[in-house]
Amino acid sequence: MATSPILRLDKVSKSYGETFAIRDVSLNVDRGELVCLLGPSGCGKTTLLRIIAGLETLDSGTISFRGEDLHGIAPHSRGFGFMFQDLALFPHMDVFGNVGFGLRMQGMSSDRVRMRVDEMLELVDLGDYRNRKVHELSGGERQRVALARSLAPAPKLLMLDEPLASLDRVLRESLQVQVRSILKEIGVTAIYVTHDKDEAFALADTIVFVNSGQVVQSGPPEALFRAPATEMVARSLGLRNIIEGTVVRACDSVEIASSAGTLSIVGSLPGGISVGDGVLVIINERGLSVAPVHHEWAEMGIKLSGVVNEQKFRGGESEIHMTVGRSELVSIVPTVNVQTGVMPGDEVSVLVPPEAVTLLPPAQA
Ligand code: ADP
Repeated sequence: MATSPILRLDKVSKSYGETFAIRDVSLNVDRGELVCLLGPSGCGKTTLLRIIAGLETLDSGTISFRGEDLHGIAPHSRGFGFMFQDLALFPHMDVFGNVGFGLRMQGMSSDRVRMRVDEMLELVDLGDYRNRKVHELSGGERQRVALARSLAPAPKLLMLDEPLASLDRVLRESLQVQVRSILKEIGVTAIYVTHDKDEAFALADTIVFVNSGQVVQSGPPEALFRAPATEMVARSLGLRNIIEGTVVRACDSVEIASSAGTLSIVGSLPGGISVGDGVLVIINERGLSVAPVHHEWAEMGIKLSGVVNEQKFRGGESEIHMTVGRSELVSIVPTVNVQTGVMPGDEVSVLVPPEAVTLLPPAQA
């Protein structure tokens, strides 16, 4: 039986003077789901969080939690937790004091505070740190203390606003994995704001892509990656092979005349696209294969000709930048698979399997 969402936003709008920060946003979050709000700076992510928290009023629309309309319920009565980039750990308190702060404010007995703090410190793998001062912690340890502090009162919903943004890349990537596993271990429902696609991919069950105050697309990370709804989503997810084309045939198979050459897709034309329409064509960078011109292909797909412009070695993977027809395309291949004879200036044969090709309807293109 399908469960109903724990948090439901229905046509929520909020403007500041002339500026629409949030426009007509509808969103459902399931119990235990980890949702990432992803979008460029200024698109309205923080405003959306603040609205859910009750720190901003709505102009219109409704928000309900466990079926109850949150209108008129004060922020502190909602039972939600927060973790922000600006951690605001109390510098004069030790780790124990910080994590137990909210619990003491709730009037919890000292024995229960001690038990709960110890439980939370075990959860974030800082069991031995209870008496450390804040200034004796590394950046990553501080973030874990802040996470333990926000989880200690067992929030019904946890909201995290770019909590890792101030850390360096290596630490951020390792914490992303830890944060996800901690949140999943306790099964808290969480909304996580980030402008970093890699962070959203590492963390989210569901990515909600926001632009100009509106939800453009939402779904599991792999679904967004495979079938981005708009060019903006595609580019924001790091997809680069986005070229123009026209649908020329859609009988047994679909044929697109593109600036790289003739292409095909799997199955029939997506809704909203007809023969004769101009479309944007996305070719998955990892779906293309590149080989010297006389290569005998074992795989199926459309074969185009190109010229290699540049090869970029990126460790385990390499990028091959090519001119194919009138388009510049990139192919990403495992470095061990880069064929000899695929050097700058070389003519190459490019295999584009239909599975690697996605079309954007003209209205969204
Ligand atoms: P994000 O979190 O995606 O960076 P914000 O939600 O902070 O975006 O901001 C969305 C829009 O609303 C921006 O144009 C921002 O300038 C505006 N905005 C946010 N808060 C205020 C405010 N308190 N007063 C006026 N404008 C605001």
